[in-house]
Amino acid sequence: MRRHRHVALVLSIALWLSLVAAPPAWLPASAAEKPARLDAAAFGRRLLLIAPEPGQLDALRGLPVSFHATLYSDTGERYVTSADASTAGQIAAAGIPVEVLDADTRGQVYYFVDARPPEARTLAARLGRILYADTGQLLLAAQAEDEPALLATLPTRGIPIALLAADPLPLPDQTPSPPAPVRAAAADPLIASLLPEVTPTDISNLIADLSGERPTDIDGRSVTFYTRYTFSGQIVDAQRYVYQFFTNRGLPTSYVDWTYANYSGRNVVADIRGVVHPERIWLIGGHFDSISDDPYNRAPGADDNGSGAAATMVIADILRHYQFADTIRFVHFSGEEQGMWGSKAYAQALSGQGAQVMGYIDLDMIGWDSDHDDTVELHAGARSGSNTLASTFITANTRYGQELRIELKQGTTSRFSDHSSFWDYGYAAFLVLENYTDDTIPSDRNPWYHTTGDLLSRVNLEYVTHTARAALATIAELAGIGANLTPTPTVTGAVPAPTWTPTATWTPTATTSPAGQCVERVNKEGSRPRARGASRSPPPRPAISRPRLTREPAPPAWGCCPLGPRPSPRRVRAAPPCPPRPRSPRPSPSAISSARPRRPAPATPPPTRPSACRPAPQPPR
Ligand SMILES: [Zn+2]
Repeated sequence: MRRHRHVALVLSIALWLSLVAAPPAWLPASAAEKPARLDAAAFGRRLLLIAPEPGQLDALRGLPVSFHATLYSDTGERYVTSADASTAGQIAAAGIPVEVLDADTRGQVYYFVDARPPEARTLAARLGRILYADTGQLLLAAQAEDEPALLATLPTRGIPIALLAADPLPLPDQTPSPPAPVRAAAADPLIASLLPEVTPTDISNLIADLSGERPTDIDGRSVTFYTRYTFSGQIVDAQRYVYQFFTNRGLPTSYVDWTYANYSGRNVVADIRGVVHPERIWLIGGHFDSISDDPYNRAPGADDNGSGAAATMVIADILRHYQFADTIRFVHFSGEEQGMWGSKAYAQALSGQGAQVMGYIDLDMIGWDSDHDDTVELHAGARSGSNTLASTFITANTRYGQELRIELKQGTTSRFSDHSSFWDYGYAAFLVLENYTDDTIPSDRNPWYHTTGDLLSRVNLEYVTHTARAALATIAELAGIGANLTPTPTVTGAVPAPTWTPTATWTPTATTSPAGQCVERVNKEGSRPRARGASRSPPPRPAISRPRLTREPAPPAWGCCPLGPRPSPRRVRAAPPCPPRPRSPRPSPSAISSARPRRPAPATPPPTRPSACRPAPQPPR
């Protein structure tokens, strides 16, 4: 017996040492020693646009060319790259169409700018040089010293931007995204039983906190959020609020610090660790920073992106009571409104660690539906992995009776949210967005976008609720909710290859609109689009009740910019036992279905709850 104890002791010390020496890639990125650093590299001297034919990418291997962005269109992909002058000549000599966008990258910063707002081109031209333009975006070059003016002008006027980072991306064909496994052939009764737990009241309460509709409790202090602007002092409270939400619910949570140029910030990530394949990570979340035309004083950001952040937190609060085969990671980024700084640094860090990212579901602005037609845009881009991933959301929407009218966007997809940071590194990702884009389905644009008027009272809570339910069902299916999971505690530093067999049966049925501009697909299973303007009265604003928060010591205040003395990264704390599940405040399923008769929950027997809260064992640190 004593010998067994010794063996166990030696083995645990060996495991601990191996983890310290090489943290496995599925650990939250904060386990790494350094903050995720954006723009650690420099551009090659010339910024180039190349348009290789199929097969011509091979000619680029071995050449000192850095990839920085992919331009997707219905006709194919082109790449923004950089290289020195002689390499640019070699690319042209290899017969690859190449255009010099900027002859000298020194001292320049580059941003994509959403081309659709009427003022975009005029304002961009005042701030720098427009190097490239298509129907959806401009590529703007500006002097580095003019970057603060650019950041203070475009997004605050409702024109989203995306940083073109100097860090070289993997070659586009070297990071094939794994197709998303669709595990279930039919609605899972357990998942169906969870959907009524996503309530407008819970979502409203969280948006009320985040948008400053009421004070909230952070580390025992009463805090009212006037803004969550990344450059404001309140971003520290905002990230702490999100962090506290997850730790109060017993989830392993961490800050993931990032830097870009002289700026710094923190993302917040929390895990439900998988019990079979913890190394396989399904991400869901959305940015928690906000912006407006008066961003230091008032940027409530109830729709953008209080809605997506709140939906993510509600989903986490429900799913934390269950076990999953794979890891679900809830992610909240800052620096999004400045051009996706936080998520770009995070996706780069995950890629550098060799993390097995299965996909990212980006919830960004899911709260505006003034015409009550339930239209949701899914920006899936052109790659198959992202489209397969998006198809699981489309299936879940139908399968679990949420009746969203889904517009799948491929060639005309937007890069202006955190999903594109994951595309950059070859991961499957898509953006869930309200009907923002004017295309086949005319836009229902939030007129309060990026203004001080983006308030909770203008959020369509019922619409957020159904979008969040579809997202919950999607991530729960993908990560493999359920009983009969056999833990396999064989954690090593290496990332094993996927062992699942793709069983997706979805086939694209996209049709091109007469205008040829947009690709739209409404649920294959035949859910008919509701007529625009079909009557549904806006949901009443629910009463706000104050959640009970437990206190814990405050971390060192370390917000964004400018980069000051940096504390050492916090280690992830071991998860305490899950607190008992609050049952009483939640409405019963019957209350929900009577409130919304058009969307009955699928007829399923009341499930037993097979996966009581049993957090996966924590690896020693
Ligand atoms: Zn946003």
